[in-house]
Amino acid sequence: MVGRRTFVKRSVLAASAAALGRASRLEGAPAPAAIGIQIGAVSFVDEGTANAIAAVQELGGVNTLFVATFTYGRGIAGRQPRGTPLPDHGRQEYDDDFRGGNFATPHPELYRQTSIAPEKAPEHPGYDVLADVIPEAHRRRMKVIAWFEDVFRPDVPGLDRAVEVDVHGRPGSRLCFRNANTREFWLALVEDHLRSYPDLDGLMWGSERQGPLNDALGASHGEGARPASAACFCPHCLAAARRAGIDGERARQGFLALERWIEGMKGGRKPADGAFVTFWRILVEQPEILAWERLWNEGLRETYRAIYERAHARAPEKPVGWHLWHTNSFAPFYRAEQDYAAFGKCSDFLKVVMYNNCGGPRLARYVRNVNATLFADLTPEETLQLVYRVQQYPHERPLDRIAQEGLSADYVRRETARAVAGSPAGVKIWPGIDVDVPTGASEKKTQPEDVYQAVKAAFEAGAHGVILSRKYSEMRLDNLRGAGRAVRELGVV
Ligand SMILES: [Zn+2]
Repeated sequence: MVGRRTFVKRSVLAASAAALGRASRLEGAPAPAAIGIQIGAVSFVDEGTANAIAAVQELGGVNTLFVATFTYGRGIAGRQPRGTPLPDHGRQEYDDDFRGGNFATPHPELYRQTSIAPEKAPEHPGYDVLADVIPEAHRRRMKVIAWFEDVFRPDVPGLDRAVEVDVHGRPGSRLCFRNANTREFWLALVEDHLRSYPDLDGLMWGSERQGPLNDALGASHGEGARPASAACFCPHCLAAARRAGIDGERARQGFLALERWIEGMKGGRKPADGAFVTFWRILVEQPEILAWERLWNEGLRETYRAIYERAHARAPEKPVGWHLWHTNSFAPFYRAEQDYAAFGKCSDFLKVVMYNNCGGPRLARYVRNVNATLFADLTPEETLQLVYRVQQYPHERPLDRIAQEGLSADYVRRETARAVAGSPAGVKIWPGIDVDVPTGASEKKTQPEDVYQAVKAAFEAGAHGVILSRKYSEMRLDNLRGAGRAVRELGVV
């Protein structure tokens, strides 16, 4: 594991682990605590590299930077989107022209096996975030982990040759994990990070997507039901199905039946047998739907394994881990597909998202989504209570309060304990803690005490670190101080 030598020197960590009374995963060797923060190039450019690093270290007790190196999204890069207040640091100006891409320097010769263009993000011409940040972070004895995610724009050159095919045979908007252009792009990016930045300390990748059944049902806090775009039915996926003995045509018919059921309910036609029984009948008659859901997940798991193997072939000592999407907290369907024990075979750490502040509004949205499909027989409040029972959150608030008040630190404690208990020894659990993730006007806003309590709860439940999320450029400094107060009181920095 990277940084062992440096971390071991920090005997204070050993003492803190003992003080917390948590069992070490390596007999006799207390796990080092990573206090991470996600941070994008814009913060270093706006505030000065040394200043930004000093701020997160001094205010938040941070010792590990998760630097956003590749994304076309606003979640982990750029400043705040217009409509959301800018925090009390950084340039007070909206970056409406944000595009994204690679915030380091892509080396085109490594991307010959993929159609997807390795675009340098145009935001900061001539600026390479890893080349700039790694030396300064190391001077301050901090680690730098490259953080890249499965978020593209449709106009990226060559993307059209990597996208999924939906149930109606139309090109989808997202990449097919079985398409060689997709796989080779991720592997080239891994190579590029590790070859071009030999002092980099590790990699984290994330994909906030789920399979076609969950997508059709709208079983997430994102967009609602999207049965018409269930995917993937591309030639690569159909071939994988044939090899697995799954009838692709029956799967397609099953997804079309799902679409008729969901669209019918949207049009106000509730089936005589109710929503749930009708759904279950479709599933029993066309079990290939479930087989297709598993097939999709297997494509994602193959990607995890391929990234892990490629990274470790080049840099065996550098940790590789995954950002696990917030839907894991809300939907039992997605949760069932995130098997921590199985992740153990291809993970050095897991950043399990446990954002409790924006978790309230997001859970309310999940309830609304599934209440329109699978759980249309229940009231929204009953749907929420089902979530609490099935997901094992006994102490959370009713539906009319969660959007305004968020979820509790107890939720963070329970999700941490579940992840620690479920994952094999040696896999570090670094819960994602939310600091000022944007929410609606009347919805829960992060307070310093929230961050303090969430960080404490994570460590008390056995976490091996935390990752303050989603990006420094949206965090208010007082809230960051809440994290610093917790980690100093706990003695982990
Ligand atoms: Zn496909």
